[in-house]
Amino acid sequence: MRKRSLRSLDAAGLAGRRALVRVDYNVPMNDSGGIGDTTRLEGTLPTLRLLLDGRARPVLLSHLGRPGGRVVPENSLRPVASVLAQLLGSPVRFVPCTDTPEAVEASRSLPAGEVLLLENTRFLPGETSNEPGLGERLAQLGDFYVNDAFGTTHRSHASVVGVPTHLEPAVAGLLVEVELDALSRVREAPARPFIVAFGGAKIGDKIPLMEAFLTHSDRILVGGAMANTFLAALGMPTGKSLVESDAIETAADILRRVPDLLLLPEDLVVGEPGAAGSARVVPADAIPADLAAYDIGPATRARFSAVISTARTFFWNGPMGRFETRGFDEGTREVARAAVIATESGAFTVIGGGDSARAIREAGLDLRVSHVSTGGGAALEYLAHGTLPGLEALDEDEP
Ligand code: ADP
Ligand code: MG
Repeated sequence: MRKRSLRSLDAAGLAGRRALVRVDYNVPMNDSGGIGDTTRLEGTLPTLRLLLDGRARPVLLSHLGRPGGRVVPENSLRPVASVLAQLLGSPVRFVPCTDTPEAVEASRSLPAGEVLLLENTRFLPGETSNEPGLGERLAQLGDFYVNDAFGTTHRSHASVVGVPTHLEPAVAGLLVEVELDALSRVREAPARPFIVAFGGAKIGDKIPLMEAFLTHSDRILVGGAMANTFLAALGMPTGKSLVESDAIETAADILRRVPDLLLLPEDLVVGEPGAAGSARVVPADAIPADLAAYDIGPATRARFSAVISTARTFFWNGPMGRFETRGFDEGTREVARAAVIATESGAFTVIGGGDSARAIREAGLDLRVSHVSTGGGAALEYLAHGTLPGLEALDEDEP
């Protein structure tokens, strides 16, 4: 399923026209009300530059936080405008309204060469429920639609699925295109060996994704809290470790179906509950009753690294341990290093998942793998199902 790209619009399709662009500027705010991390703004710069170069007039819609359909001043997008203007090198106007006649007027009077940012879409009651009237009102803000909000494309919200039904063309922005190219390369025809590493905590959410890889991957490495649930499924003691008891039966079923595909930890780094106190290494079948497993151990790190080095395609989701805590971050760092080494030997390597992306960025290695997805849940859902609600709403690519 290919979607029509923004790049397919010619000069006449762009010049003077208002491009209503859904972006994902759900950025972390720091205590002083500034922006903690500009990665999401930077991700949209290629699309905005293409639009400005073509003399289109970009009008931006985004959400920020979870204000729940009412105005919450701390969730205003106002602080984003000046930071975006600096990154882009072009003026960015902000208006504190979204679906009102004032907002439409601001879009109509936007001069060429400038960008208009509207207020948080989630201040509107109909956004998350995709109220049909809201999609229609928001569509008044543009002459065509661009989805460049990959991280939100799995949400059936008015600004993601409602608006594009009212605008023609409705196309994929450059960020979305880059994401789809990388993720479909992993999903559809990965060069073999195809190695997958899973970790993190939300095993229930990730089972559909793991299922999608069971039939066409060569090895699935399992670390993080996810490994604890698999160890529990094998009847091993897990002490005070984080285990998702609802998922034990599914984990046991996967182990029965593909007994040789999964590689579980052979040793673990354990610590006191709450990750307090000192860490020590134990065999994976001997987690003490009063301690919790917080990372993969040194033998497992070496084994995982060796397997990753054989990959021609590598996909990684979920930290190998509680990487936010010093002493429990070595497994995650080691897998990040192994991903870089695999990339440097020619493998195509993709990291997906919000915390995984943060971990590789914090290790300073994000630019040394093939692709770090900007969409946590969206990337996982796309890999599992091959489409997303917000993609369905865009025009098909011309054959
Ligand atoms: P992602 O966002 O990359 O998909 P998840 O949200 O599933 O990853 O999981 C990330 C979280 O899992 C991190 O906060 C990390 O501390 C936690 N985690 C990983 N391994 C463990 C573990 N063994 N025990 C407790 N928490 C863990
Ligand atoms: Mg997460």
